[in-house]
Parts: sequence; structure tokens; C-alpha cells
Amino acid sequence: MPFVDKKTLCDEVNRRRTFAIISHPDAGKTTMTEKLLLLGGAIRLAGSVKAKKSKKFATSDWMELEKQRGISVSTSVMNFEYRNYICNLLDTPGHQDFSEDTYRTLAAADAAIMLIDAAKGVEPQTIKLFEVCKLRGIPIFTFVNKLDREARDPLELMHEIESVLGIPTYPMSWPVSSGERFRGIIERETKSLHYFEGRNTTTETAARVIPLSDKEQISSLVPEDLLQEALESLEMLEMAGDDFSHEKFLKGELSPVFFGAAMTNFGVRLFLEKFLEMSPSPSAKGSSQGKIDPLSSEFSGFIFKIQANMDPKHRDRIAFLRIVSGVYEAGVNVTIPRLNREIRLTHPQQFFAQDRSTLDRAFAGDVVGIYDPGFFSIGDSLVEGGNFEFEGIPSFAPENFAVVRTTSALKRKQLLKGLVQLCQEGTVQMFVDESRAASDPVLAAVGSLQFDVLLFRLKNEYNVDCALDNLVFKHARWTNASSEEIAEAKSKTDVVTVRDMQGNYLFLFKNDFALSYFQENCPKISLFKSNSTL
Ligand code: GDP
Repeated sequence: MPFVDKKTLCDEVNRRRTFAIISHPDAGKTTMTEKLLLLGGAIRLAGSVKAKKSKKFATSDWMELEKQRGISVSTSVMNFEYRNYICNLLDTPGHQDFSEDTYRTLAAADAAIMLIDAAKGVEPQTIKLFEVCKLRGIPIFTFVNKLDREARDPLELMHEIESVLGIPTYPMSWPVSSGERFRGIIERETKSLHYFEGRNTTTETAARVIPLSDKEQISSLVPEDLLQEALESLEMLEMAGDDFSHEKFLKGELSPVFFGAAMTNFGVRLFLEKFLEMSPSPSAKGSSQGKIDPLSSEFSGFIFKIQANMDPKHRDRIAFLRIVSGVYEAGVNVTIPRLNREIRLTHPQQFFAQDRSTLDRAFAGDVVGIYDPGFFSIGDSLVEGGNFEFEGIPSFAPENFAVVRTTSALKRKQLLKGLVQLCQEGTVQMFVDESRAASDPVLAAVGSLQFDVLLFRLKNEYNVDCALDNLVFKHARWTNASSEEIAEAKSKTDVVTVRDMQGNYLFLFKNDFALSYFQENCPKISLFKSNSTL
């Protein structure tokens, strides 16, 4: 353990906030990220967020596949300081065809920002990502974006969040109309209007904040009917809405809501400040030896992502490590309990989009990259002076299924080796179908893009050319039912079973109908969307 006194360790951990933004594509995640980085003074880097999305800037894409598809497959972490806070913003691929990486990244986040398009409300990808956050019980802040465009009734949006996602909301601010008539937001706590001056896309200027009691000024800026409408909704919220409870928020049982327009830089600063103030610093994490305190002097962390070929010239593999406790400095010796192996770590590396830099030290909450000599697996724990394992990173129900077809029978062995290694890295999931040969596994992925990555890497790294035959399944569910119960279920329905690499059973369903038919006919069998609930 390097010499860092308790107070420094405590201060460093307390000022860290590690979070991710969850949203459906086009809700404004890139725009929001950029505005947050601007606020944090990382202006130079703010451009690189945008660059990632544009085909024109394909040179910033490190992987050939990304160039071909013009999208970003990677997950990285963006690091910025705001006031005294150190923010680790975990970036998740924003593409429609998202993958398990997105889910796994949430395992490294202590809080999430749920971004919602005010005209569209809760969308399919919002629901999926929200469910993962809910499973982890992390606090979720909501930002309703694009108020400068015609939006849906905000009360209706609150109702939708509550009914579709099942989480009560607590609006911290409330919009005064939307689109052309948008006049800003009323901050409930201070009873003041943050006045929307109009479009301002490049620089961040402080909004004019006017107390509602200053009726003269307010009426000179906001038409009476718009103000009345907003105040009436607020009154309804005061009477009928939930009270705010910080405790419930921390448990992920209540979501504070803000309104704004990220593109025009409106409402973002207020949102960020409240988010940083209210969201938790890194907390203790469960392990095989109980909860590990972030302030424990011994360094520990877990790997939630492995990224190959960050630098195509070197074919390197980077494991992303979320630090749970202690201090990471170069030279620290750690054990990897799964392998019963000890290694000495070099300097922690930080990745910002495509840039990397070396850090002197990193603390609980930070996400760093370490070189993977080829033996790390997703979920591995790295522990200094101990021998415990953190709770694993869950797998989530895949929605795409395929079997591999090799063009060369001679490459079979090489193919299997590649598949096993790539599964360890979490590129895809691999299941055994007992009605097929063991060398003919079922491959499964949350997003079909993962299959493209798999084929690309099998060819480039293992020199195996192959194709995939898609299987007709649409849903997979884990089960903890007994073999007898499973056999009975199979006799009643035409469900197919497979086993994951840990030997757990999953049912595969061809469509929504098959899934509900199964649930109706085998009501005693529990089905799980993630292996973490088994
Ligand atoms: P992402 O797919 O979630 O990363 O979304 P982007 O940040 O790329 O935004 C999608 C589109 O919505 C882009 O054209 C943005 O300029 C636009 N957009 C984002 N935020 C706002 C906003 O507050 N107001 C308006 N009018 N457009 C926005």
C-alpha cells in the first residue's frame, strides 16, 4: 500500500462520482456528454465526443470494423473535474444496435442519468437499460431533454415514467411550456424561474434566475397563460406527488427529474450541480468476504470490460478495471483469485475516447485500463493482500442466436479456441445445446453487432474464416428449475433448453407468443432475464 494518509484517501473517494448516461439513440446523449465536458473544462476533448459519431472523423475509430460501420463499438470513460468533484462518466455505445458492453458498463457505475426526449418519452432502449440499473439498485436521475422543441405534456411524461418503468418521480424543476413558447424552468426548491433566453449552442452562459415573487419581471418575460399552466401543474404535484426522499433516491426507488435542452446548453449546469451534490460517492461492494469498504487501505477492483485492438499496430488488449478500494499506484502487487495468480501492475492508464494518459495514482471510483496479457476474464477481481472475489458481472438475456459455419474443417480447433477466448472477453455468450455436438455451440448476443465483432475478430486474430447461421430464437431466460421440472416443461411445450458456461439452464423461445404460452402453461417455473438473480 503506497503512503496515502486516511484523510487524503477519504477526501479523494468522497469527491468522486462514477456514473453513466442511459438513453435511447437520438435522445441527446452525445450532446449532453459534450455539455458536461464543457462545464468540466474539458473543451478540447468535448469535440472528440462528436467526432466519434461522424464518419468524417473515422480516423479516431481505432477498430477497422468501426470504420466500416461508422459507429463506435467501444466503451470508454471520460474524466472531468467540476468544482471539487472528480467525475468519471462511463461512456456506453450509443448505437441502436447496442450490446452487452452497455449493460456491463452499468456494473461499474454508482449512479445513472436517464435521458429522455421530451417529445418521445420512454423508448425501448431506455426501458432495457433502466431495468439493468434497477437490478443493481443504483440511483437514477432523469433529464427530460429537448424542451426547446414541441414536447409532450410533462405531467403525462411523469406518468409514463412511473407506469412504464415503475419508478416514482420527483420533479426538481418544471418547464414553462415548450418549443417556440418555451420560457424556461421553474426550480421548485428556490421557487425561481431559470429563464430560457433562446438558442445558444456553443458557449455556456448562466441562465437568468428570477424569483417567482418578482412578479413584475416575470410577467415581462413570460406570458400569463404559460406561467399559470406551469404553476397549476406544480400545484398538482405538491398535492398529489411523492415527497422527496434522499434515502429512496439512493436506493433507486425515486428518480429526481430535471427539464432542459442540452443542445442549447439550457438546464445542464443546474442539473449537474444537483446530480453531483445528491448522487453517492463510491460505496462498498459485496464480495465473497462481505462488503469491501472503498476506504479500506488495500487496493482492490474488478474488470468489467475487455477491449482488444485498442491500438491496431500493437494488437493490445486492455482490461477496464473499476477500483473498489484503496489506492492504485504503479508496482502494486495483486492477486487474481480466479486464477490463483499474482501479478505486478504497471502505471494505471486512463482512456478518454481514443486518447490515453498515464496516471500517478487512482482511487476507488476511478476506472483505469490495464494491459491484459491475455488471461483476464470479465468479472475478474484484482486484490492486494487478500483473496476474495467480488460479486460477478451478470450476463443478460440475449436476443440474437446463431451457430457457426466454418468453411474449413481443419480450422475447427482454432475456431473453438477463439470462441472460448472471445467468450471470456464477453464478445458473445456461448451456450451448449445438448442435442448438438459440444464443438457446435450456440452463440448468443444482446445486440447483433456483437456477432459482427466476433466474426471480424475470429478472422483477424485467429485466422478463421467463418459465417454464422442465425437461429430463429428471440428470447432467452435463465431458470433455476430442477431437471424434472425442466423435462416436464419440455413435454408440455416445444421449448428448447441450453446451458451456459457455468452449467445453468436457459430456455430459448422463438417469439413473444412462445414465451407467454410457456409462462401460462408452466406457471411454477421462474424465468430470469439475468443470471444474477438465479
Ligand atoms: P444520441 O444519439 O443520444 O447521442 O443523441 P445526439 O446527442 O446525437 O442528439 C441527437 C439529435 O438531437 C442531434 O441532432 C442533436 O443536435 C439533437 N439534440 C440533442 N439535444 C437537443 C436539444 O436539447 N434540443 C434540440 N432541439 N435538439 C437536440
